[in-house]
Amino acid sequence: MKVPKLFIPGPTHVTDEILSAMSKKQIGHRTPEISRIIEEIIEGIKNLLYTENKILLMSNPASALWEMGTNNSVNKGVLHAVNGAFSKKWLKISKQYNYHSESIDYDWGKAIKVEDIDKLLSTGKFDVFAMVHNETSTGVMSNLEEISNLLLNKYPDIIWLVDSVSSMAGTKIEIDKLGIDYIFSSTQKAWGLPAGFSVCAFSDKIYQKSKKIPGRGYYLNLESYDKSIRKNQTLTTPSIPHLYGLKYVLKKIKEEGLENRWDRHISMAQTTREWALNHGQKLFPEKGYESNTLTCIENLKIWDINNINEKFLERGFRMDRGYGILRTKAFRISHMGNIYMDDLIEYLEIFDEIIKN
Ligand SMILES: *Cc1c(COP(=O)(O)O)cnc(C)c1O
Repeated sequence: MKVPKLFIPGPTHVTDEILSAMSKKQIGHRTPEISRIIEEIIEGIKNLLYTENKILLMSNPASALWEMGTNNSVNKGVLHAVNGAFSKKWLKISKQYNYHSESIDYDWGKAIKVEDIDKLLSTGKFDVFAMVHNETSTGVMSNLEEISNLLLNKYPDIIWLVDSVSSMAGTKIEIDKLGIDYIFSSTQKAWGLPAGFSVCAFSDKIYQKSKKIPGRGYYLNLESYDKSIRKNQTLTTPSIPHLYGLKYVLKKIKEEGLENRWDRHISMAQTTREWALNHGQKLFPEKGYESNTLTCIENLKIWDINNINEKFLERGFRMDRGYGILRTKAFRISHMGNIYMDDLIEYLEIFDEIIKN
């Protein structure tokens, strides 16, 4: 059976070129060869993220980076913005760690609002604010600039943690300008690589704070990475195929050009939104906060999503039917990473054929 082409928001479509770039001979993880590859990758990532912060390359899913963030920053308490499934899970983890944690709870489809963050941070109960930039479950992308203005001007001591798993490498995030202390992603979303590997950028502010927090363990302790970062190595034996993959993808990104890449994602998002509205459907996110990397469409027309899914599979495509409680009620179209406008148009045309019949 032919493997269906993925139009789901992770794992995303990986091209044959990327797969073959990844399947090379293993090399030693304490060798000059690997350091050269890592150095090149780090340089590419810093450029992509507009940052001079330290970069971590970790052979684990992004979920581990939720706890690493809080592990290295929370003394007093952590404020979580919860507006979908992923931010909800992060809050749950903080509760499992017994941190003092509170949440600002939004209905699904809503974005995080600055006023709410301000109100809660002004209580003085928190030293950390944690949020998801692009809520993959709802297709909502919150506004980092607005939040940055608040935090930089009014709460300069707060440590700002951002999950950008489904937006990093697909939308412009100027880390240093925004003042984000800790931000991470895994490779199976907008990076367009297989799953199981994460990228993180952290500031000196979180690092210095982290050093004063006792009991941070080993693998999720920022301090453990000090030596390997300086040597352009990884803490543990890395997934070497992912390093080759990152090197390849960063080269492709450089060829495409950063602004072109951001524009490509915006154009695909606009095309998808227009397509949905032209079909009498509704966008699930509140207006002005629609994601650039995926579009979540409220199924007003009550299309038979399960049937459409079967038809798509027959045609060689894997669609998304909606996350968890939204299944069939708000389905998603992913347009990130290795999906280009031509791929998207082809997908939407097939969608049209399926719903006509
Ligand atoms: C996919 C996703 C995650 C989880 O990533 P893993 O690599 O599977 O751990 C976390 N947050 C968001 C916003 C995601 O989209």
